[in-house]
Amino acid sequence: MAQTIIERERHTEESSAYAIAIRQLETAAHYLNLDRSLLEVLKHPRRELIVNFPVKMDDGSIRVFTGYRVHHNPARGPAKGGIRYHPEVTLDETRALAMWMTWKCAVVNIPYSGAKGGVVCDPKRLSVHELENLTRRYITEISMLIGPESDIPAPDVGTNPQVMAWIMDTYSMHKGYTVPAVVTGKPIAIGGSEGRLEATGRGVTVMAHEALKQIGSQLEGATVAIQGFGNVGSATAKLMHQAGAKVVAISDVRGGIYNPNGLNIPALLHCAGRDGCIQAYRDAEPITNEELLELPCDVLVPAALHGVITGHNAERIKARVIVEAANGPVTPDADEILDDKGVLVVPDILANAGGVIVSYFEWVQDLQAFFWEEEEVNRKLEKAMRRSYEHVAQTAEQNKVNMRMGAYIIGVKRVAEATTIRGIYP
Ligand code: GLU
Repeated sequence: MAQTIIERERHTEESSAYAIAIRQLETAAHYLNLDRSLLEVLKHPRRELIVNFPVKMDDGSIRVFTGYRVHHNPARGPAKGGIRYHPEVTLDETRALAMWMTWKCAVVNIPYSGAKGGVVCDPKRLSVHELENLTRRYITEISMLIGPESDIPAPDVGTNPQVMAWIMDTYSMHKGYTVPAVVTGKPIAIGGSEGRLEATGRGVTVMAHEALKQIGSQLEGATVAIQGFGNVGSATAKLMHQAGAKVVAISDVRGGIYNPNGLNIPALLHCAGRDGCIQAYRDAEPITNEELLELPCDVLVPAALHGVITGHNAERIKARVIVEAANGPVTPDADEILDDKGVLVVPDILANAGGVIVSYFEWVQDLQAFFWEEEEVNRKLEKAMRRSYEHVAQTAEQNKVNMRMGAYIIGVKRVAEATTIRGIYP
C-alpha cells in the first residue's frame, strides 16, 4: 500500500509530538482490538490548512507569518480546539494537539471532534497593535474552516480572552452580524462564560483531589509544585492554595522558585503574567524549570509545554501524583518509568479537559443566548470531571493499564464507534 505524506514524514520524526500521539493511539487500538482499516482512518488528520500571510508591523515594515489549522476526526461533532502563538509551533505539533483534542472531548463525552491551530510567532515580542493585526489576518486566512457549526477555536499557549475577542469580531465583521458562538474563551462582556478563565485550573485541582484520594491521601496539606504560571498554572496555584494545599514551587519560562514551607500564592497572583514577577519574589530559593520537576512533593503539575518529563529525567521524579495540566508533558518512555515507580499520572486528555468542558458550556450559552451563573458553571464542570475520573480509573483497573491508557480506551472507543455508525461516504 502506498505511504501517505504523513506516514513518510512521521518516519523521519520518530520522537515528534505526532509520532508520540500515534504510538499512544496504536497501544489503545491494541487493547480495543480495533479493526486495522479503522485505525488507519483514526491515525490521519482529516484536513490541514497551512497559511502564510503578511502583517503590517508598527515600524511600517511587512512581515510574513506562518499559521496552521488542523482538524483531526470529525465523527462526533464540530471541530474544537485552541489556537497557540509560540515561536516553536509546527505542523507536526498542531497535528498531535488536534488528535489529543479528539480523545479529550470523547473522554469527557462532549459532542466535539478535535482541532488545533497555531501561528509561529513570539507574542511577547509583538505590540498589542501587531498582535491584533496578526490575529485578524490569520482568522481571515482560516475563515473557510471556522464557524459556530464547523470549527470553534479557543485559547491555548500564548493566546488569551482579548485574542478571542478579536477572533469573534473579525468573523462577525465578515458575516455582517455578531456571531458569539464562533469562538470560546471570550471576555464575559461579549458572550464569554463565567468560570471559563479558571476552568482548566479548576479541573486540574479536582483531578489532584481525586488522585490523592485514590492513593489514600488528601489535597489539604499536600505539597504541590507547578511548572508554568500562565493562565492554567496560575489558576491552578490559586485554587490549590484555596483548597488548603501547600504550593512549594512555581516557575515561568525564565525559571522558578522553591520554598518547602510554601509560597505566598495570593502575593504572587498579583503580578502573575508580568515579566520578572516570580524572580522578584524574595522568600524562596531560585531553581531551574528542570529542578522544579524533580522536587520532593506530593503533586507535580506540569502546566507549560509538551515533552518535559522524558526517559532522561523520569527516574528522578519524586512526586506521588502527576496531573498533566499541559498537553503532552510526559513522553511514553517516561510513562513506563513512572509506572514502575508507582507514580500516579492523571493524563492530559482527562486532567486538563476542564477548559474545553467550559468552552462547551460557553458555546451552548451563546447558541441559546441564555447565560448561567458562575456557581452553576463550576458545579457542572466539577461533576463532569469527577464522573470522567471515575470512569477512567475503572477502565484502567478493568484492563490492568495505567490511567493514560484507561482514558485512551474510552476516548478511542467512542470515536471509533461514531466513525463506524456513520459509515464511510459515499
Ligand atoms: N486549548 C485548550 C485545550 O487544549 C482548550 C480548548 C478549547 O477550549 O476548545 O484543551
